[in-house]
Amino acid sequence: MDENYKRSIKKAHERQIKKVRSREEHKLLEENSRQRRQGRGKKTNRSKRVRVEEDDFEAIFEKMRPQKQLDLEAAKQAARASPEEPTASEDVDFDLRGTVISVARDRVHLRDEGGHEHEVDLGSTTLGPAVGDEILCRRREGARPLGVRLAARRSMLSRPDPHNHRVERVLAANVDVAVIVASVQRPAFKPALVDRFLIAIEKGGCRPLLCVNKADLLEEPGEREGVAEALRPYLDLGLEVIWTSAESGEGIEALARSLREQTCVFVGHSGVGKSTLLNALDPDGQRDTGHGREFDGKGRHTTTSSELVELEGGTRLIDTPGIRILGLWEVTPGELSNHFPEFVEHSDACRFRDCGHTHEPDCAVRAAVDGGEVSAARYATYLRILDSLKE
Ligand code: GDP
Ligand code: ZN
Repeated sequence: MDENYKRSIKKAHERQIKKVRSREEHKLLEENSRQRRQGRGKKTNRSKRVRVEEDDFEAIFEKMRPQKQLDLEAAKQAARASPEEPTASEDVDFDLRGTVISVARDRVHLRDEGGHEHEVDLGSTTLGPAVGDEILCRRREGARPLGVRLAARRSMLSRPDPHNHRVERVLAANVDVAVIVASVQRPAFKPALVDRFLIAIEKGGCRPLLCVNKADLLEEPGEREGVAEALRPYLDLGLEVIWTSAESGEGIEALARSLREQTCVFVGHSGVGKSTLLNALDPDGQRDTGHGREFDGKGRHTTTSSELVELEGGTRLIDTPGIRILGLWEVTPGELSNHFPEFVEHSDACRFRDCGHTHEPDCAVRAAVDGGEVSAARYATYLRILDSLKE
């Protein structure tokens, strides 16, 4: 199922990249020749990035973007910056390697492949490790091992630093699965929120999984069918959907099975049952449950620091303050439809190559919405997000 999802996203990306590239290349060539005529240098960073704000989210926000390239660059810089690493060599000399399980100001805890935990200094390096990062270290005589390099990240979830929104703070690295938890009632199921989470997760390079919780609250005949109908577009996309009830136990085993041996995070609106589900999966971990914990500043998750815990069955869970709510990320209007793979399947047939699928004549995406091939709800979310991207 998730393979399908990945494939459709990849296909969508490839098509979009081709489109954008030819358009951007054309613009860049024009711009370059204009600047050459004017005797100025080449301007490379042309894409304007705009913030998207969740309308129905409270104070906390996050942004996500894949940073594989930047990571490599940062790792190289870190190697250069470290006094212990004068040569900017690609092959860093290391004799200890492990996964970061918690981060303090100038030091991290890591677990090595043998399951042993170590406290590691970061020294003067600018590694900026996050929970889940693979870190390479060098052991030292009479001192803690020193972290010298981060391995390239497979994926990550990040958000702007609360004190400086231009600075990106990586909340978790190398996340395999981001579980979007929604509830069927109390609070009501909000597909638009799922759409936004999907964009953020996909930008971070993680696999999404949708967990539809509080299934026990659907008692009236037809209620379950109503939610199932709203889930159809996600199933069509190949997204894995698991119905759960922390109350009755429904789906808990299926969820545990799906997360086995994966590194995962749980995201979702406050009150949907994330802590309760985590407790069901990890009975030893006992988390506080109840409404609004992330917001009121009194809950355990706002006070504890980031941690990676290993559950029975080899599931690794990253539980980090702030990671449960994704409300803000960087996305350009032009790249938005890229994150709606079912649109991209049709957009080749739009009259204009750079069709924004709003008012343009002969828009194949709108035709597909009218024809019922593309979900009207997903299209509505697209329009709302696009609207919020405009200054
Ligand atoms: P979080 O804010 O997402 O971590 O949500 P919590 O885990 O704190 O749960 C919020 C409330 O929903 C608590 O009162 C839970 O007891 C309740 N709850 C969680 N899961 C379920 C469920 O599957 N069914 C029902 N009926 N209530 C649930
Ligand atoms: Zn179009």
